[in-house]
Amino acid sequence: MERNTILKKIRKTKWDIVIIGGGATGLGCAVDAASRGYKTLLLEQVDFSKGTSSRSTKLVHGGVRYLQQGDMSLVFEALKERGLMFKNAPHLVTNQSFIIPTYDWWGGPFYTVGLKVYDFMAGKLGLGPSKHLSREEAIEALPTVEQEGLKGGVIYQDGQFDDSRMAITLALTAVDYGATLLNYCKVTQLLKDGELINGVVAVDQETGEEMKIKSKVVINATGVFADEVIQLDEPGKPEMITPSQGIHLILDRSFLPNDYAIMVPHTSDGRVMFAVPWHDHVVVGTTDTLIENHSLEPVALESEVDFVLQTAGQYLVKQPTRKDVLSVFAGLRPLAKPEGGKKATKEISRGHKILISISGLITIIGGKWTTYRKMAEETIDKAIMLGGLAERDCITHHLPVHGYRMDIDPYNDPLAPYGLDKEEILAIGEEEKGWDGWLSEKLQIRKSQVAWAVRKELARTVEDMLARRTRALFLDARESVRIAPDVAKLMAKELGKKKKWQKEQIEQFNEIAKNYYFRDK
Ligand SMILES: Cc1cc2nc3c(=O)[nH]c(=O)nc-3n(C[C@H](O)[C@H](O)[C@H](O)COP(=O)(O)OP(=O)(O)OC[C@H]3O[C@@H](n4cnc5c(N)ncnc54)[C@H](O)[C@@H]3O)c2cc1C
Repeated sequence: MERNTILKKIRKTKWDIVIIGGGATGLGCAVDAASRGYKTLLLEQVDFSKGTSSRSTKLVHGGVRYLQQGDMSLVFEALKERGLMFKNAPHLVTNQSFIIPTYDWWGGPFYTVGLKVYDFMAGKLGLGPSKHLSREEAIEALPTVEQEGLKGGVIYQDGQFDDSRMAITLALTAVDYGATLLNYCKVTQLLKDGELINGVVAVDQETGEEMKIKSKVVINATGVFADEVIQLDEPGKPEMITPSQGIHLILDRSFLPNDYAIMVPHTSDGRVMFAVPWHDHVVVGTTDTLIENHSLEPVALESEVDFVLQTAGQYLVKQPTRKDVLSVFAGLRPLAKPEGGKKATKEISRGHKILISISGLITIIGGKWTTYRKMAEETIDKAIMLGGLAERDCITHHLPVHGYRMDIDPYNDPLAPYGLDKEEILAIGEEEKGWDGWLSEKLQIRKSQVAWAVRKELARTVEDMLARRTRALFLDARESVRIAPDVAKLMAKELGKKKKWQKEQIEQFNEIAKNYYFRDK
């Protein structure tokens, strides 16, 4: 994972498949293609999962909401994929109990029946049966839930994960199977032989070097940026993506002290809302707001923050306020524009679409984190056909991801997401001078994780380290700002950078972090 070595390999290889975009979709494609034995290259313009894939609700789920909407095929597909993710990445995906608190006489029976259908659809890959809870049982599990008018609850199981740690793990899995991946390398043009695409032009964002890269197939997996790549192929083509913003707030664990999550099936705007324990904090969200302009750093709207706080307050004894928010983050759903007519973003299907242009560009849009594997399988099947590649079956159904490990406690061990790599990280702290001890004891982050991220996970900036290799920025933005100078110093030591670089890195990180906390608090 040394940048110059990767660059040399990129320059001299003719690839079977080039994937543009290093989010869940692109990384899934890289794992699928490499594990089938194709010469695979993935290029990410910024950092792996910098886009939507680090900004999800962190659920590996079938989607109770899609069941309500009657989108049965999506629920079936997602429940199956949930089960496979759970099996293939046990150190990253946990079984989470959700409770729907009910305040009407009909709520209990209604949701119990609905969730029995959900259980049934999961079949053998189910995570445990749902059941009705009495008022006393619901209060025991959720001591901070609003008790006035509470009739009882319904408990069901879904999966939870750390999205960007999963993304980095998929990157490492792809590399384990021979793929080449590079972050900070933006695709700026598509190469064509006559009418047909036969490669890309990419620019190394660190040096400005432009590279012409040849490939039999090119896949556009750029999420909300997909239209920009489509324009490189077919200028003037109508837009395919409707970006919809969702925000989350992070609260202290005291708002939800037990291990149960709350699911609100019908908010005042007709959506669902979750409050879920995550890395010893509580993540609350989300919203569904149509956004005109997409960016890599979307910002939560005041109205969205008010809505999440207000809705959370309806279900919690203690009303959370801006003062309680440790971090706020926004993400953009790359929803596939529905054909004909307008729809509210909450009504647009979360299913995916694969589009193939006349010149052979494969674009994959929509979908969910949970369904990344299936999306990748279908995309690579198309790539094989289009690129005339030797036919090989997909093997990712039962492919353990990098670091696969059963004997680790993903609920309580902060290093569990590293799986088998955990011991090597601990060894760096024990054996190498200057790498021992905590970077943040509050967030349970060790200095040795910095060395690991630079050496093995292509971390290049302070933000890579604090937003995606660890989740400091997302969990507690102020704490992440406090430790940023230490991270800059440690990274500079490993990367051989000067004081000026450290200063710039801290400034850039602080600028981004500003949008993750309320300064007037
Ligand atoms: C608020 C919210 C909550 C969600 N919650 C869940 C959930 O709980 N569970 C679930 O299953 N799903 C959830 N999702 C959906 C899921 O997060 C997305 O479907 C998924 O992350 C999309 O991944 P992607 O790879 O398509 O896009 P992205 O993650 O955005 O990746 C696209 C990448 O392409 C890169 N790129 C763009 N242009 C170029 C270029 N020219 N060259 C190189 N690289 C380029 C970008 O930098 C970016 O990193 C949620 C989504 C949102 C917004």
